[in-house]
Amino acid sequence: MEKIKMKTPLVEMDGDEMTRILWKWIKEILITPFVDLKTEYYDLGLVERDKTEDKITVDSANATLKYGVAVKCATITPNAQRVEEYNLKKMWKSPNGTIRAILDGTVFRAPILVNGITPYIPTWKKPIVIARHAYGDIYKAVDGKAGVGEAELVYKDENGNEVRQTIFDFKDGGVVCAMHNTDKSIASFARSCFNYALDKKMPLWFSTKDTISKVYDGNFKKIFSDIYESEYKEKFEKAGIEYMYTLIDDVVARIVRSEGGVVWACKNYDGDVMSDMVATAYGSLAMMTSVLVSPKGIYEYEAAHGTVTRHYYKYMKGEETSTNPVATIFAWTGALKKRGELDELPKLVDFAERLEKATIDTIENGEMTGDLVSLFKKEGVTPKKLSSQDFLKAIAKRL
Ligand code: NAP
Ligand code: MG
Repeated sequence: MEKIKMKTPLVEMDGDEMTRILWKWIKEILITPFVDLKTEYYDLGLVERDKTEDKITVDSANATLKYGVAVKCATITPNAQRVEEYNLKKMWKSPNGTIRAILDGTVFRAPILVNGITPYIPTWKKPIVIARHAYGDIYKAVDGKAGVGEAELVYKDENGNEVRQTIFDFKDGGVVCAMHNTDKSIASFARSCFNYALDKKMPLWFSTKDTISKVYDGNFKKIFSDIYESEYKEKFEKAGIEYMYTLIDDVVARIVRSEGGVVWACKNYDGDVMSDMVATAYGSLAMMTSVLVSPKGIYEYEAAHGTVTRHYYKYMKGEETSTNPVATIFAWTGALKKRGELDELPKLVDFAERLEKATIDTIENGEMTGDLVSLFKKEGVTPKKLSSQDFLKAIAKRL
């Protein structure tokens, strides 16, 4: 069989630990036998990031700006323990944070629904898509420790005028954090969410805590509202979908009671946390896809979970693991499909869709990784636990 040709390379961002192993197997078993894969490869594994003083991360993001579509493996965000484990020069920043700061935009996370896996919240019949603002707030914050003394927030405008506010007058030790966002980034977050909702014909809910954070969160609320009124209201009415702003507490309650089928726009931190909750409630963290959509029309696909460290340590001891590769497979299919659409390669789009279907069919027919076995209930099908590699081979058989 002739392999499917590509035109423009994908930006390939390799990663760490168990997902790095899955990455290699997915390519070997599911992609390169069928596609004449073209990628520009960046190794974002922690060893290489340390070696290049994290320049590789910035380079990979710039390559994404150039080519337009990237696929990323999960990566370690170093903490003190990792600095020791990898003997790092520095506690490098989160690669996702660095990449998102360069690309800007919004991360959309949607669960992969499989017949046989019922969400923990049984009323959820349709996907809940979390739209996570991917810029600023605590991910670009300046923080520090305080002893005894006064912490101030100082803003100096372009003419040198200063506005000073006391944050806290410390009588003994504590911590301080200052964060920011920009009107421009919030506006592009809003537009990506409105566009995504219209594209999928799904209602959009946006939530913040503007009752407490009157200026900061209030600014998010106002920008969304202004853009909705002036650019999207008519389109939403025509499409028969709603835009609703409400407090985060209220939206959490509504989400739990809902049947799904909404896009929930979240500030950066809310999206980080809530997407893990939503993913888990749909069955498994490993069944959640994630795509960063920048206002310039740039796409970066990844899995929503981490590097699955516990499984990696087992793998390193020579044990076979049953780590779920589905979200990473869908990162690849998302990227290949988008590349196919942009380059007008219907065969590539078709391959990506077939791979997604083969993955879901494999699970629905009872072959899956360990995390899904206890969740799977379908009449006439007894779920069987496969190792990661055997699961990938079972999918390949259906291609
Ligand atoms: P994690 O890698 O997502 O794993 C947490 C637990 O969730 C695992 O121990 C496993 O549970 C389960 N799990 C997650 N993905 C799975 C999969 N594909 N198949 C089967 N089970 C899966 O999160 P973490 O342990 O908090 O973080 C590990 C590393 O990943 C950290 O260094 C962190 O910095 C990094 N991280 C990276 C990203 C990213 O690059 N996007 C995101 C989050 C975290 P059991 O152990 O019970 O089987
Ligand atoms: Mg998270």
